[in-house]
Amino acid sequence: MAAGSAIQIPSRLPLLLTHEGVLLPGSTMRTSVDSPRNMQLVRSRLLKGTSLRSTIIGVIPNTSDPTSDCDDLPSLHRIGTAALAVQVVGSNWPKPHYTLLVTGLCRFQILQLLKEKPYPVAEVEQLDRLEQFTNQHKSEEELGELSEQFYKYAVQLVEMLDMSVPAVAKLRRLLDNLPREALPDILTSIIRTSNQEKLQILDAVRLEERFKMTIPLLVRQIEGLKLLQKTRKPKQDDDKRVVAIRPNRRISHIPSTTEDEEEEDDHDDVVMLEKKIRTSSMSEQALKVCLKEIKRLKKMPQSMPEYALTRNYLELMVELPWNKSTKDRLEIRAARILLDNDHYAMEKLKKRVLEYLAVRQLKNNLKGPILCFVGPPGVGKTSVGRSIAKTLGREFHRIALGGVCDQSDIRGHRRTYVGSMPGRIINGLKTVGVNNPVFLLDEVDKLGKSLQGDPAAALLEVLDPEQNHSFTDHYLNVAFDLSQVLFIATANTTATIPPALLDRMEIIQVPGYTQEEKIEIAHRHLIPKQLEQHGLTPQQIQIPQVTTLDIITRYTREAGVRSLDRKLGAICRAVAVKVAEGQHKETKPDRAEVGEGEDCKEHVSEDAKTESISDTADLALPPEMPILIDFHALKDILGPPMYEMEVSERLSQPGVAIGLAWTPLGGEIMFVEASRMDGEGQLTLTGQLGDVMKESAHLAISWLRSNAKRYQLTNASGSFDLLDNTDIHLHFPAGAVTKDGPSAGVTIVTCLASLFSGRLVCSDVAMTGEITLRGLVLPVGGIKDKVLAAHRAGLKRIIIPRRNEKDLEEIAVNVRQDLTFVMASCLDEVLNAAFDGGFAVKPRVERLNSKL
Ligand code: ADP
Repeated sequence: MAAGSAIQIPSRLPLLLTHEGVLLPGSTMRTSVDSPRNMQLVRSRLLKGTSLRSTIIGVIPNTSDPTSDCDDLPSLHRIGTAALAVQVVGSNWPKPHYTLLVTGLCRFQILQLLKEKPYPVAEVEQLDRLEQFTNQHKSEEELGELSEQFYKYAVQLVEMLDMSVPAVAKLRRLLDNLPREALPDILTSIIRTSNQEKLQILDAVRLEERFKMTIPLLVRQIEGLKLLQKTRKPKQDDDKRVVAIRPNRRISHIPSTTEDEEEEDDHDDVVMLEKKIRTSSMSEQALKVCLKEIKRLKKMPQSMPEYALTRNYLELMVELPWNKSTKDRLEIRAARILLDNDHYAMEKLKKRVLEYLAVRQLKNNLKGPILCFVGPPGVGKTSVGRSIAKTLGREFHRIALGGVCDQSDIRGHRRTYVGSMPGRIINGLKTVGVNNPVFLLDEVDKLGKSLQGDPAAALLEVLDPEQNHSFTDHYLNVAFDLSQVLFIATANTTATIPPALLDRMEIIQVPGYTQEEKIEIAHRHLIPKQLEQHGLTPQQIQIPQVTTLDIITRYTREAGVRSLDRKLGAICRAVAVKVAEGQHKETKPDRAEVGEGEDCKEHVSEDAKTESISDTADLALPPEMPILIDFHALKDILGPPMYEMEVSERLSQPGVAIGLAWTPLGGEIMFVEASRMDGEGQLTLTGQLGDVMKESAHLAISWLRSNAKRYQLTNASGSFDLLDNTDIHLHFPAGAVTKDGPSAGVTIVTCLASLFSGRLVCSDVAMTGEITLRGLVLPVGGIKDKVLAAHRAGLKRIIIPRRNEKDLEEIAVNVRQDLTFVMASCLDEVLNAAFDGGFAVKPRVERLNSKL
């Protein structure tokens, strides 16, 4: 359409009746056509017509919805826009319709409706763009100020828009190129106006009137835009901050709002972080990664989840002790004194630790084996680890590995995961803040395995001196040097430590304590520690050694001293209450147990009796100091004894023998019970036994059957075939604990021998040893723990394999003195020692082969 040139429209126009949208001259509109009249118009006029004239139609706006009344023609708006149908698109979905693209040419008014069907045709009169007016510049002069004013507003409006958009730039150019009288129509169709307003502009046939009506619309639009820009301003700033150089804002001294201040704070933090990164002593590789990340951080909007993630990462990197270490102060003599002061007994362990430290002193290199303390709980493994750190003047950190079954626990999660974090090693380093701490890897035997990978494999890398100088945590994603870290491991048993890991470690066995050692440990270390923890002094509480022995034998049954420590803690708590009550004179002690002290007199020294805690209770007076803990007070505080000497009771029938077992928790005594009943010669085994133990039971039966005659062993019906019409049931309490190993062999034989001979096994004897089918007794492991367990249980004689004799040297002299050891190399010797007066063997009848 040539702007400004005159247009001549036909005097008869087919009418397109629209019910939404108003087409103004000079603008284009897309409209959907589906009423029968309009469809007809499109079909018979637009689609069939061949000349340009046939594509000119009259668009009449604001007609009521044409679909509702298709018969009667609705009342038509008087003024319409002659338009050029530029495009017709037909579609059958969702119902048959056409979409027309029409461009407005000029206004017309209906003079007379010529026909209504199949589509309306009217005789029209063209109202603008007439030839006689187009060359008249007079109108412009007349309008003068009005059109100038309009033009100014139009320019202002367009310049408020984003000029980088090509359509806006084109519009700006059009403002200058188009004749002024065309502008009101064009701008009205561009700006936000209601249909009603557009209709008014359409009806404004006089140019002056049109200008007057459009100026307020333009002004309204300008104000609207201004408001919009104002509300958007902070957001734009935000974008700017993201995109570019923030310091500029500060230089320009723009007064800042609170939001700005927050941003600046953040910005300061990031700058500080960058400074910290640059001044930190991290490795070159790490520095490179950090600088890259901080660059990314600066460009990131804070609202992005990745912002916090990256920031946490950078903060961790800054905090890590890349080059920070404590100075080792190692003097072997001082170390020996410190170890001796902190720990009683455990000579072997202390000796090995001192050797280890001595080597370190001479050769400042950590490429030795990793020490692994293996022993029952509560024997001081952790506490020795802590002492090592103390002697070296290093930081100490304990990493509990029990139950860890995901390798990310060691090596960290990759940063792509939500909630990703570094592994325990890196976390530990962050906590201690130096790169040469002592790390105690607690309970390496309880590492698990799962689908998330094998944590033991990850630990291998950590512990291998050849690899750990460039340990790469998945979260950090850069290497960290662990070669200065001193690793010590602890475990209850080596059986469940993965072999590859075991290979890297030097195992130091830490056996359980004897009763005497426990008493010493209690009095030298545990009681003073507990008193201090409870705010008590030795002047307020007195625990004699007999009481400690009572706690050890009657209230605990353990290889270590942990539960002894707990019981002492309980006693201290109870005494603390008494002492506190005593400080308030009027407070009445509420204990009432009087007169049951008779049975415990033997535990209390004569002169201390009056000061016992229970004796003072009924006087309603503050207790006299020090409060003496006798057996009676013990019963009062800890309840009745948990373990009584039950051995003799349980051995009151034939078919019971005491074995010695080794568990990760130390040695234990084990009662093996057997019974027989009528049956078909079946052997039943209960008590969660492993395969090896089951085999031992079969071996024992076989040996006894083959030697039944020699020992005169018979079944219930007097037959030497022990399984003839007889079933045997063997049970190993406690039924809930899994047991395995060959060392119960001799015990099973003794137990069955007792069952079939009807004789009682001596009640003070315990035994251990593997058997063979020929009746030999083979050596077994864990002798020291087993002997200690027997000693704890009050047994007097222990039968051990002869080849285990050398192991007795490790046992404390006082324990050895309390016990009698029987060395057995065959089962005959075992049975002879197990039964009072020996186990009769029918002398073999020597048969002489006569040769005639
Ligand atoms: P573990 O690590 O072997 O399970 P801990 O090191 O935690 O045992 O020891 C438990 C408690 O017993 C600690 O308070 C420790 O100080 C104390 N303890 C154990 N053995 C000794 C000992 N020989 N001398 C002094 N205290 C000991």
